[in-house]
Amino acid sequence: MSQKPHLEGFLSKRLTEEKALSNLNLVDVPGKGRMTVKDSKMIVRIVGGHGGVSPGFKNTSYLIDGKLLIDAGSVASGMQIDEQVLIDNILISHSHLDHISDLAFLADNCFGMKGKPFEIYTSQSVKDSVMKHLLNDEIWPDFTKLPNAKDPTLRFHTVDSFETIKLGPYEVTMIPVNHPAGGHGFIIRKGGTSLVFTQDTGPTEEIWKAAKKEPGLKAIFTEVSFPNHLQGVADASFHHTPNSMKEEIKKMPADLPIFLGHIKPNFQAQLSQEVDAMENDRISLLSSDDVSFVF
Ligand SMILES: [Zn+2]
Ligand SMILES: [Zn+2]
Repeated sequence: MSQKPHLEGFLSKRLTEEKALSNLNLVDVPGKGRMTVKDSKMIVRIVGGHGGVSPGFKNTSYLIDGKLLIDAGSVASGMQIDEQVLIDNILISHSHLDHISDLAFLADNCFGMKGKPFEIYTSQSVKDSVMKHLLNDEIWPDFTKLPNAKDPTLRFHTVDSFETIKLGPYEVTMIPVNHPAGGHGFIIRKGGTSLVFTQDTGPTEEIWKAAKKEPGLKAIFTEVSFPNHLQGVADASFHHTPNSMKEEIKKMPADLPIFLGHIKPNFQAQLSQEVDAMENDRISLLSSDDVSFVF
């Protein structure tokens, strides 16, 4: 492990480094990378893979090819400002704070630097919540009107459940999942490759039905938030434990790698043990932030 520090703490013990490299073609962070990546591939950078904040743990933000951001939990705290400016489009899964908090600081950091808005794609209910509770000129300035309403810093576009949108080279389908605050997951396609990102969810159905119809599906990103003894908390808050994930996997397309994020920082060590005990080679726990994969 010591020769490849980018893997340290990341892979579950069951998924050996060698196997991961052959299956997944792991690389360093874009911009500092060692590998040339073909246009048809997608680089997924886990800027933050957790469902909470603490030293060493960042809220949820996944970045594709340096351009397409999924959730804004750590885009400002986990990336350099010159990287933040390069983001074109932002998908927001739901309005819980660990997925939207850094919209505020992204807008502030990049104000006047970008020359065009960050384009945000989400449901109507999430847009309404963010505008009412965050960008309301009380908690934070309304950056959808700054510097002016015609050319703002942030611009929202609403997407319906099951709608597919085209964003540059990407096709994105937004699918409802079993989580409050407007919970949705995404299927993202580029050049014949597809990835599933469920973000926060309890046991769910529709996204797995859709995933089974994806011919180019390469990996599944979903969540495990709480350890098994907190199954009641997980159920009440619409999240997974390793036990409920064991059942959930049966609904997913077979034989694909599964990445589990949104770990609550308090339970990192315990979840590592419990996920290892599942003895499932397909699973990797997103323990360390700021690692990248190529698909
Ligand atoms: Zn969350
Ligand atoms: Zn949530």
